[in-house]
Amino acid sequence: MYVYIVKGDVEVETATLWEATSKYKRTYPLLQEHITADVVIIGGGFTGIASSYYLQNKGVHTVVLEQHTIGWGASGRNGGMMNTGYKLSAAETIKRWGVDKAKRLDQYALDCNKAVEEIAKKHQIDCAVRMSGHVALSKNSKKQEGFERSKELIAKHFGRDVKVLTGAALQEEINTDYYKVGLMDPLSYQFQPLDYVRGLAEVVHDLGAEIYEQTKAIDIQKNGNTFTVTTENGIVTAKELIFATDGYSEKITPELHKGVFPLASFIIATEPLDQETLETLIPNDRNLYDTINLVNYFRRTPDQRIIFGGSGIGYPARQAFKDELYMLLTSVFPQLKGVSIDYFWGGIIGATVDKFPVIGRTSQGAYYSVGYTGHGASQSTLHGKLLSQCILNEERINSTFENTPLKTVPLYTNKKFLVNAANLYFRLMDKLG
Ligand SMILES: Cc1cc2nc3c(=O)[nH]c(=O)nc-3n(C[C@H](O)[C@H](O)[C@H](O)COP(=O)(O)OP(=O)(O)OC[C@H]3O[C@@H](n4cnc5c(N)ncnc54)[C@H](O)[C@@H]3O)c2cc1C
Repeated sequence: MYVYIVKGDVEVETATLWEATSKYKRTYPLLQEHITADVVIIGGGFTGIASSYYLQNKGVHTVVLEQHTIGWGASGRNGGMMNTGYKLSAAETIKRWGVDKAKRLDQYALDCNKAVEEIAKKHQIDCAVRMSGHVALSKNSKKQEGFERSKELIAKHFGRDVKVLTGAALQEEINTDYYKVGLMDPLSYQFQPLDYVRGLAEVVHDLGAEIYEQTKAIDIQKNGNTFTVTTENGIVTAKELIFATDGYSEKITPELHKGVFPLASFIIATEPLDQETLETLIPNDRNLYDTINLVNYFRRTPDQRIIFGGSGIGYPARQAFKDELYMLLTSVFPQLKGVSIDYFWGGIIGATVDKFPVIGRTSQGAYYSVGYTGHGASQSTLHGKLLSQCILNEERINSTFENTPLKTVPLYTNKKFLVNAANLYFRLMDKLG
């Protein structure tokens, strides 16, 4: 458990806005017996539930084990921004993968957003999904050159139009003097993430999947072709196993413990604001984020608030960090000085050394998809499809992430030290840059 504020001498985990406003309340039992499945899935976030969805649709019986509740991890705690592209810029993506693959990857990211929209529509999952667009922002005017380069590459190689914004055009997106330049991409989406994952869990449950909450996998054995997963009060045996544990992967999977870097990220949500204030501050209701290393991200919510998040600031979170987010929010929007904060929460983002997700197999032959590096809100849904295609030995909709090794994170044995050292380093870079 990573997200606390200190009340007196006691550290208390705080509620998220998404939990407080969720429309989906179905709960699932604790596993207390020995059961069998075709595929056992560890982790009840987007990746695990989407894997179950695509497998159940092919008649494969799945069992999902979640140590807390569905969506308890990053999937129920994120900013709900399904932005186009990846953690790295268009230029960096082309440099890493070459033009042809980068073009396919750009399309794949768009397909991921569409997949979430289509699933929500098909199953009437009430999760406020909408195409909102996003604006990447910088307070450093020199960033304009980099944004112009991205615009040129996206047009030339990906065949899409994005806009560089300054002055009055930028003010039409965000009413602040804090930022000097922005890059607007109209194709990003947003949603209520916990309602999406809980709504989809109800769909897979109705399709026959077994879901167990408060059920932590504590041991994995492989005997011949069968996995045996032991939980605190039960056992599951299955032919195939999927790890969908991302930033919450622990020593139970040594490969993931070594390869997934846990980045802490935190969010504050204001009290509900009046419509006029919201329309003045963020007129076009888009996803917004800062392009510094310790990314700040913010947006309006359907219940008339602004949420404002920040990454990489070490953990556990304390009151001091809530204050820091408030200071950042009111630096961007001085008009909000004095506004109350109703919610403060955080969670763990799984990142990889290469900053792209990886689909792979453990030495025991279990499948995993991890390391979305802050871009998993919609990609995890189609990664669930990819995992189902691996298991069913079907042609993949995208094989790029399956063919890359999960590199070991340096100093992984002391992640707390590493996260805090990285935080200090990136803070310094952001101050200098
Ligand atoms: C604060 C925050 C803001 C973010 N904002 C955005 C955003 O705006 N846009 C975006 O694209 N991405 C964002 N992300 C990242 C995004 O949420 C993740 O990429 C995505 O949710 C990953 O989904 P997942 O299902 O793979 O992992 P998770 O949702 O983290 O699920 C992993 C689950 O595995 C469970 N688990 C772990 N070990 C065990 C075990 N032994 N037994 C049983 N269960 C286990 C955990 O309890 C957890 O529920 C954000 C993340 C955070 C934390």
